Amino acid sequence: MTIGWHFDNTYSKLPDTFKENIKPTPVNEPEIVILNNDLAEKLNLDFSKVDSKNLAQIFSGNSLPDGANTIAQAYAGHQFGHFTMLGDGRAVLLGEHLVNKNSRFDIQFKGSGKTSFSRRGDGRAVLGPMLREYLISEAIYALGIPTTRSLAVVKTGEEVVREQLMQGAILTRVASSHIRVGTFQYIAAKQNIKDLQLLIDYTIDRHFPEIQSSKSKTLDLLNLVMDKQCQLVVDWMRVGFIHGVMNTDNMAISGETIDYGPCAFMDQYDPQTVFSSIDQFGRYSFENQPRITKWNLARFAECIVNLIDKDEDKAIKIATETINNFEKIYEKKWLNMMRNKLGLFGENKDDKKLILELLNWMKDKKADYTNTFCYLMKISDIKDQIYKDESFKKWQKLWYKRLDLNKVSEEKYLKLMRSTNPLIIPRNHNVEEALKAASKNDFQLFNELLEVLKTPYKSKENISKFLEPAPVSKEKYQTFCGT
Ligand code: AMP
Ligand code: MG
Repeated sequence: MTIGWHFDNTYSKLPDTFKENIKPTPVNEPEIVILNNDLAEKLNLDFSKVDSKNLAQIFSGNSLPDGANTIAQAYAGHQFGHFTMLGDGRAVLLGEHLVNKNSRFDIQFKGSGKTSFSRRGDGRAVLGPMLREYLISEAIYALGIPTTRSLAVVKTGEEVVREQLMQGAILTRVASSHIRVGTFQYIAAKQNIKDLQLLIDYTIDRHFPEIQSSKSKTLDLLNLVMDKQCQLVVDWMRVGFIHGVMNTDNMAISGETIDYGPCAFMDQYDPQTVFSSIDQFGRYSFENQPRITKWNLARFAECIVNLIDKDEDKAIKIATETINNFEKIYEKKWLNMMRNKLGLFGENKDDKKLILELLNWMKDKKADYTNTFCYLMKISDIKDQIYKDESFKKWQKLWYKRLDLNKVSEEKYLKLMRSTNPLIIPRNHNVEEALKAASKNDFQLFNELLEVLKTPYKSKENISKFLEPAPVSKEKYQTFCGT
């Protein structure tokens, strides 16, 4: 019995520069930890006729499905600003699974063993971080934000050496594609114009077929990628998500959130929040995310600039102007997103001031980002005393005045707010607690959290424990890359 894979592998047919043909390294005693049945259904896969032993063989890479053609993809990346040639050092792509003619997904194993891109790494992944990726990527999906998804996690039955011995694991990642800004950087660095043109055409065919016959394909591609990534970062800012490692190899051309390493959600509003232990200078802090997106897009533009126009000066001028549009596009999207968070219809010249005043108040009072909007939406579970603060009440009066200009019913603006502001995010303390228990084979908390995160905008019974900010602690929450 098979689970219904339908592979059609276009990436593995690209020239050798793009990849290495390699099989996953078999593992000792694979065991299914979690399967994503909702996602399986969307992919037209059926796990029900295969027993869990065989599923473990499949999702560990011990038994490769018919039609798979496993490769490690080559890419480069600016890591914290420094350029490096990278590639899948601990992942293999099985191929592209076709759900139907127009719907194609990369299926990738993360933690599947060494490749020629592994450098000094062991090619393996650890259970905790893979479960964390599973949980948070599924949460981001349910929040309506473009993202790679997680189909399965298996334990390998092998130990992995980190600061201490850890349980090895493999995550099955599903993505529109794994083409990154860093993929373009790798191919551009090889200085073979034919390969670069091939990558541009491949990316357009796969993600942006609407510009296939455009006369200014390369420039159109730049604009479309910019639009997608701009929208993505606005979505992150909407829900308080901090990606944590926005290196150019971790920015997907499709505009999906990818690479859930040190990411986490902000609780108390502080624009300078950084969780990642290795981000010492706050390069990837909450407030820097738009700026870094632009920086990454500029690196993308550099790769393809020569194909924008034959006249080099003209091409550079066009690319520069395009990238410099980022702030304008971002500001507009961000302002509209914040208006939605506050239930504001139409545009008023003082909207930005109103929004910034609230954010400043939140920062001063260390208010919880998610819960402040919940309070404004009249979610009765939010009972924090800080909303009795005089300066907050003063701001609220201005907000009510602005709401009057909406000329829509309370019901209507609350509806807009409720579709924009999540009630439930994967709060750091909930995530940690769930992962701790899961590492000891107790999945009750993990499953409970996973379930409640599936409908983050919905008010339900018994959710108050997921609305509570972390208990105040002297220690700052820190995340790790989880390699
Ligand atoms: P990341 O920090 O996950 O974005 O990874 C950056 C680079 O390091 C990529 O090329 C990864 O494939 C590689 N890498 C991360 N962890 C490992 C590992 N355990 N073994 C080999 N390569 C790794
Ligand atoms: Mg990465």
